[in-house]
This record gives sequence, structure tokens and C-alpha cells, in this order.
Amino acid sequence: MTWKEHVEIVEGDITALDVDAIVNAANETLLGGGGVDGAIHRAAGPGLLAQCRALDGCLTGQAKITDGHDLKARYVIHTVGPIWRGGSHGEAALLASCYQTSLALADAHRLRSIAFPAISTGVYGYPWEGATRVAMTEAGAYLKAEGSIERLIFCCFGRPMFDLYQRTLAAA
Ligand code: ADP
Repeated sequence: MTWKEHVEIVEGDITALDVDAIVNAANETLLGGGGVDGAIHRAAGPGLLAQCRALDGCLTGQAKITDGHDLKARYVIHTVGPIWRGGSHGEAALLASCYQTSLALADAHRLRSIAFPAISTGVYGYPWEGATRVAMTEAGAYLKAEGSIERLIFCCFGRPMFDLYQRTLAAA
């Protein structure tokens, strides 16, 4: 088995996935927002916001875990991606850290399946190709080291993002 056999690329709404944890591309307040964050809070119900209020926010590049509430997923791992500011403000390292800290939390909870959205590629403006390379590099590094995750899913919103992930996985 190579690490790539543990990676799945799907297209659709991450809130519908039946996995141990879905990852939320949140903001530093952890109090909800637009994009995937809004979709997750709507699908999880008000219990998620109530639990998030007690977390006191999250720094960029870090991650915190909550229950999944009304989602199929047992947990939500909230991570805060960097806002793209041209690429010379540590964006790549911060984005890599989002994947690393999320996967470390998943390990700490002995989770076996996790689904990531394309962190920072929406309103945070990170160029898609660079963000996808970071996501795939971190997935490979984690899976080669053999933590608890056996299924690592990249949930792409729309066909163009799905195609980019497929190409990036093939080239990795
Ligand atoms: P960020 O602020 O980190 O850029 P966004 O939510 O604006 O977060 O976008 C991150 C990615 O999530 C984008 O590629 C966007 O298309 C995607 N996205 C939005 N809604 C969903 C959803 N329901 N499921 C999966 N991905 C989603």
C-alpha cells in the first residue's frame, strides 16, 4: 500500500460526509462565517456554536476539536487558514500547519477517517494550485508516518477543484 491509496478525492458538500471528523475552514473567532464554515454550522445546528463559544477562538494555523452535533461526522476539527497576502507572509507554512495540527488532533482522538475542504481557497484568497500542493504534501507526510487515519478525504466544492486535486495527487 502506498500512501496515495489512503487518499480519496470527492466532489460535493462536506457536511453530508459520514466520517469520523470533518474539518472546518473557520476564522479566528470560531463563531461561524460564510462558505464552508456557514454550511457546517447550519448543518450541525446551534449546539455547535454553543460549544465553539467556550473555545475562546483559535489562532491562524492552529486547530481545535468539537463534537459533530447534528452532523453524521462525530467530530468537527476547526482550523484557521491564512488569509492570502501575496505569499511572502508565511502563508504556505501556516496552511501546512492547519493540515498538521488537524491531523495531530485526529490522531490524539484515534480517528480513522477525516475529510478536509480546500482550506483558504475561498474568501481567504489562497491560489488554488499552491494550496492544493500544500494539502497533498501534508497528506503524504502524515500517511507515510502512519498515524490513526486510514481514510483521508479531500472534499472539493465543484468540478474545477476536483480536477485540480486529481491532477495534484497523480503528480505527487
Ligand atoms: P476560507 O475562508 O478558508 O477561504 P471558504 O469557506 O471561503 O474558506 O472556502 C474554502 C473552500 O471551501 C472553497 O474551496 C469553497 O469552495 C469550499 N466550500 C464552500 N462550501 C463548501 C461545502 N459545503 N463543502 C465543501 N467545501 C465547501
